[in-house]
Order: sequence, then structure tokens, then C-alpha cells
Amino acid sequence: MTARATAPASVTWGWRAALVILCTAYGTVAALVVRGLVGGIGFGAADIVIVAAATLVAMLAIVPMAAVIDLPEALWEHWIPERRWRAGRCPSCGHESRQERCPECGAPFEQPASWAADWSSLRRAAWVVLPAWALGTMAGAMLATLDESAFRAQVEVLRSRDPELRDHSRPRAWPASFAELR
Ligand SMILES: [Zn+2]
Repeated sequence: MTARATAPASVTWGWRAALVILCTAYGTVAALVVRGLVGGIGFGAADIVIVAAATLVAMLAIVPMAAVIDLPEALWEHWIPERRWRAGRCPSCGHESRQERCPECGAPFEQPASWAADWSSLRRAAWVVLPAWALGTMAGAMLATLDESAFRAQVEVLRSRDPELRDHSRPRAWPASFAELR
């Protein structure tokens, strides 16, 4: 039996879930900023496409951080085996042995490969970035719509007091406060 050192599933899943949450927050902020840049009020089909596409571009900045996304793999499959191998122990199970094959787990006693980004890291990055993109765009669109309806309600109140009211504006909610609702 040749055991290959792998990160515990709970660590891998926990790490990825935390990254998805973090990236979703980033995607939400990106979507809100794009919504402010697009301008106008209300979400037409074209606005949704523009906001989703621009948010995806912002999210692609995360892909080169594959080493961060792959941290559990890099630690358990490369860093820990490497340290064991240097200490003259089996890279796979840590058994004291410099024999060709570990008597404990049967793994060969050879220097483990270092971590390098490959297709599976890209796939793992996609599993973080794409859900975060979808969730972030939806959350951003929802928050922007809430902000707009709050503004509409405010204008209704002002109009009921002053029917002559024509022009009213206020900044959008953070992080799009550079843009005005009119
Ligand atoms: Zn072993």
C-alpha cells in the first residue's frame, strides 16, 4: 500500500469555504462599484450583463493567487513531506527510515516534488472564483436595488410634501458613493 500524504478534507473544505466567503465579499463590492459606474436607476438586461462581466474581470485578479487557494495541498502534499524527507523520515507517513521503501507504508524514500501551479490548481481556483462571482454579483445587484428603492421612497415622501419637486439627488450607498442617484 502506498499512502500519499493529503490534507484532511475538513481543512481543505474549510479553507476553500473561507476563501469563497472572502471572494464573495470582494465580488459584492466590485459589483456595487460597477453598478455606480454604469449609472442610471433600475436593472435592465444590459445593466446585468455589464455588471456581471465587469465583476468577472475583477474576480479574475484572484486566479494568480492559486498558491493561496492551494495552501492545504501545498502544506500537506509538498511542504510536510519535504520536511520529513530532509529529516530522514518517510515523506508519506513520517516513519524513521532511509530504506528504498518505507516498511510502514510502502512509500518510496525520495524527495517530494515542490508545489507548482498546474491544471488542477486552475480547476480549484475556478471552484473558488466562479461561485464567489455568481454570489457577489447577485448580492451586489440586490444591495444596489435596495439602495435605489430606499431613494425612490425618499423621493416619494419629498414629493408628497412639495409636489413641485423636480430635481433631487443623493450619493449611492458605499462603496459606490462616488456616484449619485438622481
Ligand atoms: Zn511511510
